[in-house]
Amino acid sequence: MRVEDTRPAATIVLKNGRVIDPVQGMDGSADVLIDAGKIAAIGSKVNYEGAKVVDCSGKWVVPGLIDAHCHLREPGFEHKETIETGTKAAARGGFTTVVAMANLNPVPDKLIIYNRIQKLIEEKAVVRVIQACSVTKDLKGRDLCDMATLTAAGVRIFSDDGLYIDRAAVLYQALKLAQKLNVVISLHEEDATLKSYWPTAYEPVNEFAAIARDLEILRVTGGRVHFQHLSTANSVELIRRAKKEGLAVTSEVCPHHLTLSLPDVTRQGTNAKMAPPVRTQEDIAELIRGLDDGTIDIIATDHAPHAPDDKNVTFDLAANGIVGFETALPTLLTKIVHEQGFSPAWLIERMSSKPAQIFDLPGGSLAVGSSADICVIDPQREWTIDKNKFLSKSRNTPYQGTNVTGDVWLTLVNGNVVFDGR
Ligand SMILES: [Zn+2]
Repeated sequence: MRVEDTRPAATIVLKNGRVIDPVQGMDGSADVLIDAGKIAAIGSKVNYEGAKVVDCSGKWVVPGLIDAHCHLREPGFEHKETIETGTKAAARGGFTTVVAMANLNPVPDKLIIYNRIQKLIEEKAVVRVIQACSVTKDLKGRDLCDMATLTAAGVRIFSDDGLYIDRAAVLYQALKLAQKLNVVISLHEEDATLKSYWPTAYEPVNEFAAIARDLEILRVTGGRVHFQHLSTANSVELIRRAKKEGLAVTSEVCPHHLTLSLPDVTRQGTNAKMAPPVRTQEDIAELIRGLDDGTIDIIATDHAPHAPDDKNVTFDLAANGIVGFETALPTLLTKIVHEQGFSPAWLIERMSSKPAQIFDLPGGSLAVGSSADICVIDPQREWTIDKNKFLSKSRNTPYQGTNVTGDVWLTLVNGNVVFDGR
């Protein structure tokens, strides 16, 4: 059954919370009435007679978080994660919509496979899942997949994530077609031909040289590009200039690139190995500046579950990636909001409203009439991250034992409680 078709829960009122909705410019005490799966009323004089009351005093009521970049591993890698465990972990992290990448087996590069995955999503997902399809057949970086047919079936995001499209001519063709079809190409920018481990994966130049090339291609083709997981200061500067010129680009940064640096790799070993790797404090400062001035539009987790065997090997052999759903909000609340003083609305805009806007995804606002996709946050809860309590099937986190302040308290999709941390 699709999330949208689930029977809406009883009428609920989220009472006395601090309601934060960047889209409506709202940040203050209010009640939120949920009826028939939708936001029915919001304000200080809500008539909630007959509704189930949830006292949200001291909590923040925000639009459900939206993750434009994750890996759910099904089909093909169910020993790492499934649509069920992945979306339960997403709900635990406050996410109500996630975009799943295409590096699956089989790769969703044609309609029959895409439809098969859609069916799995309808049967198993507890939050909304938008499945991306690959740009090239079988992620080989050579021939384009059947983008026109997939677009007609509703696909709006194409990505070879995990891999760089190394042939300029292939990206050129893809962008020409994407422009015609009005879809987004989401790019993982690391030129693997410049391979050298520095010290965990590719050198900074691998990323910003790839971005520089692809901005030049975009300038010629037109179309719309989203740059995934920026990690270097130079990348931010390239995109800042491209936006000033008016190129149709958006970009994202991951929580780990904002909160971890090289010494964490030494401490956490292969559980801190990802591509692109974490960098320096200077890079972190520039990534935050980029997020603040709008060069970087959104924060995305790149949730990438791996089995113990993928990580319990030497560093150069270990798989890239970390789980991210269940640590994203607490680590960012701690580092960005509590420690650096950015407002909750600033964070929620980048973790919910903006991803909804730039990818035209469901959610991102608490406007009356919209689906009741909501995250309630306990901003003051002090706790220690423990991977053994993750709802994800995998445990590959560099945050094990990290003390954090703030947690998800309640997640609702379509008015139904999908995570209850009360
Ligand atoms: Zn990637």
